[in-house]
Amino acid sequence: MFCPKCGIEYREGFYKCADCGVDLVEGQPPDTEDDVRYVEMVEIFSTYNQGDIAFIKSVFDGEEIKYYFQGENSNLMVGGGSYARLLVKADEADRAREILQDLGFL
Ligand SMILES: [Zn+2]
Repeated sequence: MFCPKCGIEYREGFYKCADCGVDLVEGQPPDTEDDVRYVEMVEIFSTYNQGDIAFIKSVFDGEEIKYYFQGENSNLMVGGGSYARLLVKADEADRAREILQDLGFL
């Protein structure tokens, strides 16, 4: 049994989600491990510079900001190197922009 709204799994014998008050659904909850896919992502930066990408990744990892570099390893990008767009969760975009500003990227 699981809650279709928040995805929490319940033992047998529960019929309503304690958090949402929603009726539980039979079966296994959908795979929510990679919750980046389910939240709104906004683009805050783009670069051709592999060094910048690696650096931003290490900083955001340290700050525990969820991010996604789109097109990082794209084979379509020939000649000019790899062009990557940095996406972060919408609710963390302001913080991520501030960090990039402090680092001199923006
Ligand atoms: Zn719930």
